[in-house]
Amino acid sequence: MQDRVHCADVEPGHTVTVAGWVHEIRDLGGIAFVILRDRTGRIQIKFEKDEQPDALVDTGLGAARESAITVTGAAEKEPRAPTGVEIVPESIDVLAPADPELPLDPSGKVDAELSTRLDNRTLDVRSERGKAIFRIRSALLAGVRDEFREHGCTEITTPKIVATGTEGGTDLFPITYFGREAFMNQSPQLFKQLMVGSSLERVFEIGPIFRAEEHNTPRHLNEATSIDFEGAFLDHHGAMDVCESLLGAAYERVATECADELAILGLADDFSVPDGELQRLGYDEAIERVNATGDLDEPLVWGDDLSTEAERVLGEEIGQHYFIVDWPSEIKPFYIQSYDDDPSLSKGFDLMHPRMELVSGGQREHRHDELIAGFEAQGLDPTAFEYYTEMFRFGMPPHAGWAYGAERLLTTMLGLENIREAVLFPRDRQRLSP
Ligand code: ATP
Ligand code: MG
Repeated sequence: MQDRVHCADVEPGHTVTVAGWVHEIRDLGGIAFVILRDRTGRIQIKFEKDEQPDALVDTGLGAARESAITVTGAAEKEPRAPTGVEIVPESIDVLAPADPELPLDPSGKVDAELSTRLDNRTLDVRSERGKAIFRIRSALLAGVRDEFREHGCTEITTPKIVATGTEGGTDLFPITYFGREAFMNQSPQLFKQLMVGSSLERVFEIGPIFRAEEHNTPRHLNEATSIDFEGAFLDHHGAMDVCESLLGAAYERVATECADELAILGLADDFSVPDGELQRLGYDEAIERVNATGDLDEPLVWGDDLSTEAERVLGEEIGQHYFIVDWPSEIKPFYIQSYDDDPSLSKGFDLMHPRMELVSGGQREHRHDELIAGFEAQGLDPTAFEYYTEMFRFGMPPHAGWAYGAERLLTTMLGLENIREAVLFPRDRQRLSP
């Protein structure tokens, strides 16, 4: 199979070997066609029953749809073939037959429930839609990685098994670690902060986060992928600048690399790259605008987090990505810095898509004593976090950062209804396998 040619590269006038899956079988009587599909496209294989050996015809037409096969034959020009080329087979091998009872139809002609698709991801990602989503996800992450490097960031990997949670105990998955209690990490937050104090200064991580959130929603997963950034000598507005440029880079990469995939998803004419400065709306104004719509059953009061309903109402008004800045300190975590001249206000921010929150970030508290006081104010025991707080005694620079949910970025970019479509093997309350 080393000499294998991909469907997209088959040129008439050559003898070629192709390998892939039986996409379709069309038997017209004396003549029949098998459409073979590989990762690059499809090619027609022609069978003329009176002219070709019976064994060859039987093998070719006997392999059920979705069997993995390899075909060697002469590629010829054929204007009536879907790609203008067809192969007249000389030999065919069925590498792995498929059971004719397929749990879902990868050709996409028959719609399948999301749960059936998730149970049979191998077959689902043979479909054009399934494949397009994960090709785009890959391009998005490549765009993000390159952009981080443009910003002078170093990619890091931090532990996912930890002794203490990042933000208190509620959303943690406990595990047993050699007889000790440990947890799956909710976020690389504390570790990435420790690294802005190293000479790396600017770091990023793309990795899993684990949240034992009880609710089942179209935008929550229990295992998600976080795109984390943290930079030294940066304030929250500087961090928002980087956040904005990452957003543009992710969309840009997808727009330039994935035109075919976007077309498959019906987004060919409907995909715009966010550019320019996004609005940075104060929390005060955000709740005022939500309340002014009169759409909520109960108006928001200062200090409330934005409910799903409030996010939706505001998103509809603004109609594009926007930041919410200057949140009440009491609803932001201990590591977010407050304004010195108004400690009730924090330097935390969220980046919102009209449909949902994409990012939380902020300037961090880098002053040791203030950090300890912040733990205590939120009822947390700073001694459990000594590995973290100790390093703030040795020249921890002012710093800021944020985290995107990769699946939320993809879900909103592609207008997917459910975040589960953006993960190969999602983890939710019900789903632990595959
Ligand atoms: P939400 O309030 O929407 O549940 P959050 O504020 O708890 O999100 P953060 O702790 O701020 O989430 O995490 C940063 C980002 O990581 C979020 O903006 C989101 O994009 C993503 N994220 C967090 N939790 C989840 C989850 N359970 N599933 C998918 N993405 C998540
Ligand atoms: Mg958040």
